[in-house]
Amino acid sequence: TARIIDGKAIAAQVRDQVTEQVSQRRNTGHRAPGLAVILVGSDPASHVYVGKKHQACEAAGIASFRHELPEDASLHELETLIDKLNDDEQVDGILLQLPLPPHLNANPLLERIRPDKDVDGFHPYNLGRLAQRMPLLRPCTPKGIMTLLEQSGLKVQGLDATIVGASNIVGRPLALELMLAGCTTTVCHRFTRNLEEHVRRADLLVVAVGKPGLVKGDWVKEGAIVIDVGINRTADGKLVGDVEFERAAERAACITPVPGGVGPMTVASLLENTLLAADVHDGLTTLDH
Ligand code: NAD
Repeated sequence: TARIIDGKAIAAQVRDQVTEQVSQRRNTGHRAPGLAVILVGSDPASHVYVGKKHQACEAAGIASFRHELPEDASLHELETLIDKLNDDEQVDGILLQLPLPPHLNANPLLERIRPDKDVDGFHPYNLGRLAQRMPLLRPCTPKGIMTLLEQSGLKVQGLDATIVGASNIVGRPLALELMLAGCTTTVCHRFTRNLEEHVRRADLLVVAVGKPGLVKGDWVKEGAIVIDVGINRTADGKLVGDVEFERAAERAACITPVPGGVGPMTVASLLENTLLAADVHDGLTTLDH
């Protein structure tokens, strides 16, 4: 049966590392890195996520600035706030929590964030750099998955990888990350004709759709690495992923649980990105290749 990849433990290591590096910065006379989080409206899940991000910043010694706007905030208000944060020297990272209320279009606002403060890695500049194999700030969930693989000692070069799900925040940037790491990568999505066939071929399988049980445990290749990004709440209140865990774990070599797999890595990557942005802003490192 599969080795369980402990995302909680690996995320804790990453967070300890960030904490240590932040304290080194302070000891050499530099300010704390700063993260500004913009939250619009009252979506309960978003409030939980933002709360976790603030706590994680505080624990790592990163200053966090909370900007909560009402549900009916105007485009102009958001633009003005982003411009102000772009110019604020205490702010190294700007995070616009999604989803936005329906009257606001996220894309032009994400593009308004200065690319060197885009710690979510969603700006077309950062995605373009990743596509050209010169990544700067990398999207947090895919980056967290790459860290999970590395820290688990899993070499992915040459593997046949299948990603199920092609969203801008997970599947697409992850396809770029896995290509960069030397995988032969297939991306499946809602129009894919034979999902099972693509899953069966995968040495490395990543599923990020949001449908419990979408990937049958029996489809998993013997000895595969399985990364389940899905987060779904069942009727009895439990969290489950997109892969049938028990059966998949009998066939896979390694598998991430839900919860406690990819989830904790996303916040850890956000802290890493904020620290990196601060180091770049202070001239302590360069992002150039
Ligand atoms: P999304 O809804 O933006 O995208 C879903 C993708 O799945 C789309 O590309 C769609 O084409 C594809 N899809 C839908 N039905 C399919 C099917 N039957 N077969 C194959 N592909 C299909 O979702 P998202 O924002 O990428 O999130 C996906 C899941 O990952 C959700 O459960 C979300 O909660 C979770 N998530 C977790 C983290 C984390 O930190 N662990 C981060 C982001 C998202």
